[in-house]
Amino acid sequence: MLVERISEDSVSILTPAKVNLCLEVLNRREDGYHNINSIFQAVSLYDRVVFRVLHQKECRLELAREADLPVDGRNLITKAYVAIRDRFDLESGLEVYLEKNIPVAGGLGGGSSDAAATIRACNILFDLHLDRAGMSELGLAVGSDVPFFFSGGQAAVTGRGDHVHPISLPTDYWMVLITPPFGISSAESYAGLKRGLTMPAPDRYFSIYQGVEQLLEFLARSRNDFESVHLASHPELGRIKDGLLASGANFCRMSGSGPTFFGIYSGEPDRSKVRLCCQDCWQVNYAQPVCFGGKGN
Ligand code: ATP
Repeated sequence: MLVERISEDSVSILTPAKVNLCLEVLNRREDGYHNINSIFQAVSLYDRVVFRVLHQKECRLELAREADLPVDGRNLITKAYVAIRDRFDLESGLEVYLEKNIPVAGGLGGGSSDAAATIRACNILFDLHLDRAGMSELGLAVGSDVPFFFSGGQAAVTGRGDHVHPISLPTDYWMVLITPPFGISSAESYAGLKRGLTMPAPDRYFSIYQGVEQLLEFLARSRNDFESVHLASHPELGRIKDGLLASGANFCRMSGSGPTFFGIYSGEPDRSKVRLCCQDCWQVNYAQPVCFGGKGN
């Protein structure tokens, strides 16, 4: 994420979406979560979140424009603040302005990214001196995908999302992300996974891929376990996949539990071709993979 300190009591953060380049859902754990094997890649589609210290112990959230999002205690920004307030006995609160650009419930981790940004902002504004592991631990209590957003933007993720192993992947390619106008709940996604789930197979993803060609070869051999489930029950997703491939994508896959599909292009995508292959009601975002350096990113 990209952090800008605006003043002593305010900070502005650009916090990215992620795509799951691949995703295997493994066994169900005793705590009810599933183990996963996934590669997460941050992409240049950002929510902008501005945080200002408030002298009351509460989180006041304002949206820059209308979005299908709760602004009360159900918002992951508020949940992250409350987790921190309770842990550190904070006397202060947050006024938060959210410019939501990442499609909601799209499989792009937008809520988790906002929660991670909130933890980062609290760390800065309230001098909490949390290191990356400390922020990740707090984040995990808010959501399984949150720890990834404290990484450098490229990671093999295992466990329920809590094991984030930094990896190095190429970034010299382009992506088109297409989100249809409906969401798919996690419950629906997991219910659809009828086949027997496998046990964890560690160390599968620890290679370093040298170039886009090798990455594409690897991706062709990997999978997203939710994709075939959702393609079978939502025909519109098949049209999105076909559209991305027709527009010149070298590779196409669903991200997370969907419904967003991403296309990978080794050259800059031709936007007029993409437009021709898209329906008006689909949300189209152009992005590139991004990495972040520096402490606490
Ligand atoms: P994941 O890929 O981690 O499963 P997602 O991208 O599919 O997540 P999100 O956009 O993170 O989904 O939203 C998941 C749910 O969280 C939605 O039902 C949404 O209403 C709720 N939510 C709460 N706070 C936020 C937020 N700040 N941004 C987005 N969604 C939020």
